[in-house]
Amino acid sequence: RIIGEGRATMTIMERSAARRDAMVRSQIEARGVTNPGVLAALRAVPREQFVPAHLAETAYEDRALPIGSDQTISQPYMVALMTQALNLTSSARVLEVGTGSGYQAAVLSRLAARVTTIERRPELAEQARTRLAALCCDNVRVVVGDGTAGYPEDAPYDAILVTAGSPQVPEPLTAQLADGGRLVIPVGTAREQDLITIERSGDRLTQTSGERCIFVPLVGRFGWSSDGRVP
Ligand code: SAH
Repeated sequence: RIIGEGRATMTIMERSAARRDAMVRSQIEARGVTNPGVLAALRAVPREQFVPAHLAETAYEDRALPIGSDQTISQPYMVALMTQALNLTSSARVLEVGTGSGYQAAVLSRLAARVTTIERRPELAEQARTRLAALCCDNVRVVVGDGTAGYPEDAPYDAILVTAGSPQVPEPLTAQLADGGRLVIPVGTAREQDLITIERSGDRLTQTSGERCIFVPLVGRFGWSSDGRVP
């Protein structure tokens, strides 16, 4: 048969890699993300392994997807944009707040020396741990807790990424930022946020605001209270 001859010989892994390549070209490079390390990491991490099995077919679509417990895995473009904003070097120590599926942590693990990721829902943390271990992301530590207070045990961090929307910048996070370090966090209302970047230089913090975005709420002592109000 001539029709589909090439495709028929593609293995499952090749098909998955081809989908990632298409995703990176059409959703990420096309929107202006240029950092080669970030693009390579998105081409490498199998996103279908971080979504519920019945959604595996939609894993490379241009959107966030539900992961259970009312939470979502972020849109691939948002993952790329946030990761690029962190300006990571291979020696970087990173904190992620909001492990969710573990996908963002897997991307970070390819670009940094060490990643601590904190999740308030134990069932999501446990699932992420299993997925990250299956992909041999040995430099990632998944902890359960309220990440609005950061994670002082592993501080200071060269980069802190918050992947849930916050009403304000939690003070403990800027306090745990190393000199020259960057914090990327969506700040705004429960409906819509601005992706802001804060850079520490000695005692000085400089803030730049970026794209509009929509994240699930950051719930905790320095974020939203669980009934949806600012504490
Ligand atoms: N980065 C994730 C997507 C995160 S969705 C991924 O790649 O899949 C946001 C996550 O933040 C949810 O799992 C939610 O439970 C978690 N979260 C919300 N408030 C938190 C807090 N105070 N500390 C830690 N995790 C929090």
